[in-house]
Amino acid sequence: MSDQQQIPGFEGPGFMATSTGAIDKMIGLARANSLWPLPFATSCCGIEFMATMGSNYDLARFGMERMSFSPRQADMLIVAGTIAKKLGPVLKQVYEQMAEPKWVLSVGACASSGGIFDTYSVLQGIDRIIPVDVYVPGCPPRPEQFMDGIIKIQEMVKHESLRRRNSPEYKALQDSHDLK
Ligand code: SF4
Repeated sequence: MSDQQQIPGFEGPGFMATSTGAIDKMIGLARANSLWPLPFATSCCGIEFMATMGSNYDLARFGMERMSFSPRQADMLIVAGTIAKKLGPVLKQVYEQMAEPKWVLSVGACASSGGIFDTYSVLQGIDRIIPVDVYVPGCPPRPEQFMDGIIKIQEMVKHESLRRRNSPEYKALQDSHDLK
């Protein structure tokens, strides 16, 4: 459903009746266009994110100019950069502190797979400790790739059922990462 499309339903003066599915879509549309990102940026990929936020690329066009540096007021975790194993518990705690519904964007080779740092000290992919919704490849990914990843998250948010977060599959996903 594009942003311009009307929600299907029956309208009259001062009221509108619609189906539960349409309410899901309406809420999905509102959520997708008002995501509050928490940038968990540790190295060079974080610099690309700064470029994405700057005036040339202007992430504010997507309804997300409001960065959140508090996990409790964020619903999209952007992990950009190398994550050392020592930092893993901190990342996990940040994820756990975010309220549902929440989404995770893993940006760059390091966050997604450890990248070139195949060493004892670097986490070989953040999906070992938290669930990831969208991966952005590259070392570093360009701002256009960053935006493509964000648009993919927006598409997921628009089409996600409101009840997905209460489903046994979602609970199993959380349990598989030993999350609170
Ligand atoms: S993926 Fe490349 S650019 Fe991004 S943090 Fe790793 S080394 Fe730096």
